[in-house]
Amino acid sequence: MKYIFVTGGVISSLGKGLAAASLGTLLERRGLKVALQKLDPYLNVDPGTMSPFQHGEVYVLADGAETDLDLGHYERFTRCILSRSNNVTSGQIYETVLSKERRGDYLGKTVQVIPHITDEIKTCIRRLGLTSGADVLITEIGGTTGDIEGLPFLEAIRQFILEVGSRNAMIMHVTLVPFIKAAGELKTKPTQQSVAKLREIGLQPQVLICRSEMPIDEEARQKLSLYCNIPREAVIEARDVENTIYEFPLNLQAEGLDSFICKVLELHTGQPDMSDWHQFVQRVVDPKKRVRVAVVGKYIELPDAYKSIYESLTHAGASHDCGIDLVLVDAEALEADGAEKYLHGVAGILVPGGFGDRGVEGKILAAKFSRESHIPYLGLCLGMQIATIEFARGVCGFKNANSTEFDPATPHPVIAILETQLNVANKGASMRLGTCPTVIQENTLAHRVYGQTEIYERHRHRYEFNMRYREEMEKQGFLISGTSPEGSLAEVIELKSHPWFLACQFHPEFQSKPNLPHPLFKGFVSACLGRLS
Ligand code: GLN
Repeated sequence: MKYIFVTGGVISSLGKGLAAASLGTLLERRGLKVALQKLDPYLNVDPGTMSPFQHGEVYVLADGAETDLDLGHYERFTRCILSRSNNVTSGQIYETVLSKERRGDYLGKTVQVIPHITDEIKTCIRRLGLTSGADVLITEIGGTTGDIEGLPFLEAIRQFILEVGSRNAMIMHVTLVPFIKAAGELKTKPTQQSVAKLREIGLQPQVLICRSEMPIDEEARQKLSLYCNIPREAVIEARDVENTIYEFPLNLQAEGLDSFICKVLELHTGQPDMSDWHQFVQRVVDPKKRVRVAVVGKYIELPDAYKSIYESLTHAGASHDCGIDLVLVDAEALEADGAEKYLHGVAGILVPGGFGDRGVEGKILAAKFSRESHIPYLGLCLGMQIATIEFARGVCGFKNANSTEFDPATPHPVIAILETQLNVANKGASMRLGTCPTVIQENTLAHRVYGQTEIYERHRHRYEFNMRYREEMEKQGFLISGTSPEGSLAEVIELKSHPWFLACQFHPEFQSKPNLPHPLFKGFVSACLGRLS
């Protein structure tokens, strides 16, 4: 078993997660079994309680774990099957150690960061190594070197490498080499200092991934090698990708990253086969056609908030040799100015998930615009609830119909809290979460799109279609085309008189991959291209 630890230096948002995922892609395509793990130093037990402003998207795994969005990259870039042990936070580590302390496991001892917290961190790494059966475990450490809260993780890694030996473990440090315009030069000092910071605590990286806007010349590479104590061939340039993040593994491969790592860790494999990846990138970079798709949300200014949705659209687009021109529409602006201003001329409208009432009325207007002008609509989670409310108000004449999440006193609660949620008091990890089966009714749009009658999708919600309204709404042209197996929960809805209007209570965006687009996104993009299945 080999271990690769990915750390970050200088600043955050350097794409450590993408670097870890890209390395996973390359090693997997060399025939190795790879596992990926993220250790997050914050004290939240999981990111499920954080706002997208703090944290971007919350990525949901099959087992219902609410995790960091980097796990989305891991799943999209590799064949890894992830579960809650693939994302460990300080909060979880402390929770475990403290409950052991209360149980009396450490009776007589003072419980301390070293060794108790660091031991627990090492256990999480080793356990995943063993249970995954992988040849290589890539563990990414969140945050930046120098962060106080990251120290126990770095110390744990120091001990871990000492225990398994330097032929079995290494550190890949992702850093920034900024270009200073006034000097007309790339600067290596911040990287030198962040490596010095690691060396101060006994960690010597073996590989540097140098993020840079410019090509890194030979002189700068020599300097980085010398001052950071890293072989010249392990100074890897990672220039900003030109068009798509999916170029990243190809760029790292061209720089010799995977060859160097395999040499150091004595992994004897052939070269990775990246031919299908090249083809995919080619289709993303230079598609034959383009289509404009609107995403109506309340976090559209944050590129990370709807990450998996944007990626899923890219995958689906590529499968049709079609580029997606995203039209990002702020739901509150749409509410203020009307749908026509923002949605006129778009080929499709997507309404993503969300919580709280901000922007809801704008999203309802978007669903109305789609229904009335026969523009393809894809609603995800809240996007399905929105479409339901709109239909109830606009077609069934249920005045002030709403979700009880937004209006507890609504006369027509077409969306209401799940029965299983009624007595839930704690906010953390308490929604209906993870993979559940859905039965798809034949002769429906959903069936044409999926081509199957049983599907498995990931969930994250507390509210649901109120089945008391099913009969009345279906009489008016609403159709529940997918339900939970026993029929009590609506999972997919569509509109009979609309060419392509489909919305689901689950999150298909968590199951789309570059060469394996999700059927709903594929069908939606196809409909946007005028091919109405
Ligand atoms: N707020 C809604 C609910 O809890 C929708 C959730 C979501 O879009 N993920 O049911």
